[in-house]
Amino acid sequence: MSSITDMVDSYERFRRNVLNMQASENFVCSHVKMALGSDMAGRYSHVMPDGRNAYGGTSMLEDIFKESERNIKTLYGAKNAEIRPIGGHIAAEIALLSTMSRGDTLMAISEENGGYTGYMQGYLPDMYGYKYEEIPFNAETQEINYEAFEKKIMEVKPKAVILGQSFFVRHYDLAKVSEICQKTESKLIYDGSHVMGLIAGKKFQPDALKYSDILLGSTHKTFFGPQGGIILTNDGDLAKKISENVVWRTMDNYHVNRVAALGIAAADLIQFGEQYAGWVVSNTYNLSRTLSDQGIGVKFPPWYSESHQILLSSENSGKYGDFKAISKRLGNNNIIVDTEGRVGTAEITRMGFTDMNQLGEILADAIKGKDVRSRVTEVLRNSNVKYCKG
Ligand SMILES: *Cc1c(COP(=O)(O)O)cnc(C)c1O
Repeated sequence: MSSITDMVDSYERFRRNVLNMQASENFVCSHVKMALGSDMAGRYSHVMPDGRNAYGGTSMLEDIFKESERNIKTLYGAKNAEIRPIGGHIAAEIALLSTMSRGDTLMAISEENGGYTGYMQGYLPDMYGYKYEEIPFNAETQEINYEAFEKKIMEVKPKAVILGQSFFVRHYDLAKVSEICQKTESKLIYDGSHVMGLIAGKKFQPDALKYSDILLGSTHKTFFGPQGGIILTNDGDLAKKISENVVWRTMDNYHVNRVAALGIAAADLIQFGEQYAGWVVSNTYNLSRTLSDQGIGVKFPPWYSESHQILLSSENSGKYGDFKAISKRLGNNNIIVDTEGRVGTAEITRMGFTDMNQLGEILADAIKGKDVRSRVTEVLRNSNVKYCKG
């Protein structure tokens, strides 16, 4: 049995030789890693309600926090930003606690339609005593059924409506959703966990904050990492409630090294976000087309996807096995995808990939059972990390 340090070394070597196409992930730039691996990883900084820091040696940490918070506000044009949540799930929990009370109703997109499992009965609604109602959704067009939604919202009068999906390929007509929510004074929350980097780059749902009371999400899916969560709002009263639901309610310390790393990643997105997000969206479309031309079933032709996710069709299973089998076959060829049928383009875009014909043929050949390991090595050798300013 080797030591964990040896195992970490081996893992780093493994990672250098694989192509990561998991839609929920991204890599962190070396200057972001530097902050994560700094002395801060073991420190506390806790500004108390009276303004005094409960810990010593924290003045630089307080400056870093303010700078990171400023970067996030600048990136999204937000009046208020809560940057302490240690994940998208915690951010969602805080947002719900700040808008709902026990017995209130929450409306969300069902898991069946790609919605986030955490909003389903048995998870957050049960923990906090909320009722759950499903947002009517058209699986074929990946659109909210606005007419049915309007009818249902008048019936169930939800305290909050939360949009966003984990299988997320199409933006919403948010102006319309917002108008409907106003009829029942329901708070509109947008969970952009998967697409925060694309929203920052204004290439997916650029109006997310404009029409929502709260925009929240993970900082490591299409965002440039590190793993964490943020909550944005232009409503000052809501911002205050959000802030009150962090310390000693949903968490205690926020990991100062992570917040420093977040600020660095946000600065990269301020500089490169639009260029990056533009490439992600076009790579998704072009890769979908190539896969489809090669006989691999991709959902929702002819538009396929407007985000960083390509959803494989379950119709592939007859020929190529289920999503688990496809993931295993790709994994054997040093291409990493999840076992849920999602293929992500965020990370390959940051590695400078633009030739989706070449990449699509490699993926399709691997899915069909060919050995493509040397071709993967070749494209990795020609890749070039982009959008890291450091
Ligand atoms: C991934 C995801 C989350 C959870 O985010 P974490 O950062 O892993 O805690 C919440 N909501 C949606 C829609 C997600 O896709």
